[in-house]
Amino acid sequence: MFSKKAVYVGNLKLGGNAPVRVQTMLWRPLPDLDGNIRDLDMAIRYGAELIRVAFPDTSDFKYLKKLVEISKVPIVADIHYDPKLALLALEAGVSKLRWNPGTISRERIKDVIHQLVERKVPLRLGYNFGSIPTDRIRTGEHLEDAIIRIAMEDVQMLRDMGLEDIVISIKSSSPLETIRVNEKLARVFDGPIHIGVTEAGPLLQGTIYSASALGHLLLEGIGDTIRVSLSAEPWQEVQVAYEILCAVLGRCRGVRVISCPRCARSTGPVWEVAEEVKRRFGHISVPLTVAVMGCSVNGPGEASHADIGVAFGGPGMAVVFAGGRIVETFKYSTVEDIIEKISQYVAQIEEARKI
Ligand code: SF4
Repeated sequence: MFSKKAVYVGNLKLGGNAPVRVQTMLWRPLPDLDGNIRDLDMAIRYGAELIRVAFPDTSDFKYLKKLVEISKVPIVADIHYDPKLALLALEAGVSKLRWNPGTISRERIKDVIHQLVERKVPLRLGYNFGSIPTDRIRTGEHLEDAIIRIAMEDVQMLRDMGLEDIVISIKSSSPLETIRVNEKLARVFDGPIHIGVTEAGPLLQGTIYSASALGHLLLEGIGDTIRVSLSAEPWQEVQVAYEILCAVLGRCRGVRVISCPRCARSTGPVWEVAEEVKRRFGHISVPLTVAVMGCSVNGPGEASHADIGVAFGGPGMAVVFAGGRIVETFKYSTVEDIIEKISQYVAQIEEARKI
């Protein structure tokens, strides 16, 4: 979206005027092909546009190839240590390579670069604060400045070798450091930038860390592709990525839930229904807003901008409202009854918006 230069990852345009691309990474060892295919499908269902896979061993070649064959979105191979793995990944048909330049010597990459150029496959140089070779840092140099300088030296070297399709990421586990270094990078690098907070933590903490850094950068026009790095499932990373894009860029996907915190006026299971709505309808591709409000006195008015909402009334009673007006009153005895009612309206709206 924001970089001057664009690259193509398979058919997917990255940078230039393309939308910010959402990616995630599979976590199972490659021989667990069934598990990886399940995770891949689920992540794509939630909107992943690019899937990264670590390729740590030549014996995993057939599994990587299979994933490339069946995936509906481009596969990116993550390579450490061994350029032979990069060549094999290209043979498997991956659409992009990512390596951490700190782990592959510059002298050993000529064949890989040649193949990348031949096959028109881009390379992401993925720098992490924790893995910059100390011999490349000048005495007294600030680490952020050193990473930027090293990255631009690497880019120049690759361009001299004929490779133009380059993406850069510089990740830190600190949101503030991530913001600062990417602001500096965007001033000197004209290609696509991949942004993310590395090792951001489990779901809640990782979401907050990622949202604070990525939200800030995206509002500044920095970041052409994002990964929310969580100790959680790939589909959850994708879901959080879209929450961030929805919050800061208005690029929404799936159901947005508006739910009240509850107060003494509340008569129903707001929290449980809100969670279940998100879980059940989070993957749908049509953006729509569902409200779950604790009382039918204030709820419909407070959430009048929702496409559809439920609010609780007398014992076992709830109303469905749309545009701030009550359209149906119904009885429920379980959370599932309420979800069933909501799903009827969600299906109608989804159908209408698809056309
Ligand atoms: S919608 Fe009703 S229950 Fe929920 S916080 Fe507002 S007043 Fe309280």
